[in-house]
Amino acid sequence: MSESIETRIADLLKRMTLDEKVSLFAGKSLFKTRGVPRLGIKPMKLTDGPRGIAFHSALRRCTAFPSGIAQAASWNPDLLLRYGEAVGEEANAVGARVLLGPAINLTRSPLNGRTFEYLSEDPLLNARLAVPVIQGTQSRRVAACVKHLAVNNQETDRVRVDVQVSESALESLYLPAFKAAVEEGEAWSVMAAYNGLNGSACCESEHLLQRKLRDEWGFRGFVVSDWFAARRTRSVKACLEAGLNLEMPGKGYRLKAKHIKAALDSGDISEELLDRRLADLLRVMLLTGHIDGDSPVGQRNTPAHQQLAREMAEDSITLLKNADALLPLLPEKINKVALLGPKLKARNCFPLWGGSAGVWPPYEITPLDGLTRENQGRFELVKDAGDADVAIVFAGLSHKPGLDSEGLDRKQLALPEKQNTLISETAAKNPNTVVVLVSGSPVSMPWLDEVAAVVVAWYPGMEGGNAIARALYGDVNPSGKLPVTFPRCLEDSPAHQSSRTFPGDHKQVHYDEGLFVGYRHFDANDIKPLFPFGHGLSYTEFAYNDLECRIHQRDVQVSFTLTNTGERTGAEVAQVYMGLRSDGHPPQALQTFAKVVLEPGQQRHLTLSFPLTQLQQFDEEGGQWQPVPGEYQLRVGSSSRDTRLDGLVAISA
Ligand code: BGC
Repeated sequence: MSESIETRIADLLKRMTLDEKVSLFAGKSLFKTRGVPRLGIKPMKLTDGPRGIAFHSALRRCTAFPSGIAQAASWNPDLLLRYGEAVGEEANAVGARVLLGPAINLTRSPLNGRTFEYLSEDPLLNARLAVPVIQGTQSRRVAACVKHLAVNNQETDRVRVDVQVSESALESLYLPAFKAAVEEGEAWSVMAAYNGLNGSACCESEHLLQRKLRDEWGFRGFVVSDWFAARRTRSVKACLEAGLNLEMPGKGYRLKAKHIKAALDSGDISEELLDRRLADLLRVMLLTGHIDGDSPVGQRNTPAHQQLAREMAEDSITLLKNADALLPLLPEKINKVALLGPKLKARNCFPLWGGSAGVWPPYEITPLDGLTRENQGRFELVKDAGDADVAIVFAGLSHKPGLDSEGLDRKQLALPEKQNTLISETAAKNPNTVVVLVSGSPVSMPWLDEVAAVVVAWYPGMEGGNAIARALYGDVNPSGKLPVTFPRCLEDSPAHQSSRTFPGDHKQVHYDEGLFVGYRHFDANDIKPLFPFGHGLSYTEFAYNDLECRIHQRDVQVSFTLTNTGERTGAEVAQVYMGLRSDGHPPQALQTFAKVVLEPGQQRHLTLSFPLTQLQQFDEEGGQWQPVPGEYQLRVGSSSRDTRLDGLVAISA
């Protein structure tokens, strides 16, 4: 950040009266800060959220992009950079200087009501995808507000629950994406979570807001409380000393002007502390052009943004099963296609649907709209499964409270019973049954062996129906990969061992599973998931060859050849896992990946590297990251369970 910004901050602070200063710590209204009219500082607008500009915070229709988990299923940082740019342009178009996203809490439980909004169960994937979103958004001079720091991994009791988690799990799993967001993404804003962490409210956690965020990661932006989250804090002093800069929404509870003044008068806090906290907010007001009034104008609902929404939806579609290559539907093999199920005509984009991330776009293409529009006379679309060559059932969840929705967690892994019955009945009538799931979190599939194919379309946004149709008809080759494990049953999931571990007892939830979250738990305990982390099929095949691994300076370099051995152009996400061959450690962890598009017969030699420090482990007692010398298992492949190349790598101290 340039010298002149710091000089200007100092100058503004010098010119502010004490009353003006204390007024800036709490908002003016639901999505606005206060300003200092005398100095030409207007109230600054913040807006939700992580899949487009939310209607409730901007009162405008805007492009509805695919939800967080869909974005993550693309495993495509380049695309997410473009998403960040586009959503930054839309934020500018509604006059918002802060975008409340990306939402990057780790997926600890498949039942978390906000799984659809978040990215992944893996800290590396989370980090690699959050950084480009932030960079893209901020390239448009809109502050990305990374949320929710930290361990906001469930909705049940979210404002009261205190998360009991070891320092090593916090460091290894729950904080890395936030660290990358600050160190690499240079995020200008962070939202402190509702919950508590090891006994302190996140909004007044010195450990999070000062030691980690500022001292270790070098954060220079402002921390905003989640909406109403500062209510659980103890005092003005605790919040400001820990590093909270702004309480939202309007009027505040803890950081009201009169409370801050009282704390100053009693000597609990100093004006110097106020200045330091205000400087962070002013810095972002300057960086975004808010104070000078020279922020970009922006644009929303452009054909380019809508096209990007479709591209993202296409890139995230995840093909879980495709027996006998039933998909894609080809007119030379198939004439009649039956379309059924409650999600066929369902729309998912409305204001506040799913909570704060709900977006209201100018239109939404349902699966039926897309299948009709993209058909172009190739198939006869029929209603009865018995009359068809292929029956497609559109099933899934919705943003109704208690399903994929903020504020409540899901009660069960299963789809609504009626849908399971419909799928089984359809499969009994027609063995060529395809299930398309429109959902933002894992579901169980008691009918899996009865159906021929399963596709996950996630919540694909306003262009979703077109994307789904193009994937089913083969105009797009699916290339999404699961960013979370799909368990067979809830009991297999590490967070669901007892009520103590989820959703908690006596207002405490204990992360007893430690480092064994997601696939780390399934691998360590040899549990077969329904579908593993990283899984996703294609209409073509890929071969992996020629593995080499070397340590070069401070990096691990993994090279191999990837070949498209099938007959269609397709993209593969090549995944590199490594783990120490020793008890008590997760057997493998994702270290790096690359999404590569190859034409039929095309081959590419890839070298993927990652820093050796990534293999370090956090020593709970010493409170530090330590290299752990030993023999590591290296696996390269198409999912966490579909290893195509492997080897052993000796790492010395
Ligand atoms: C959510 C945040 C959101 C805020 C403002 C809260 O309830 O947890 O993610 O940004 O509301 O709408």
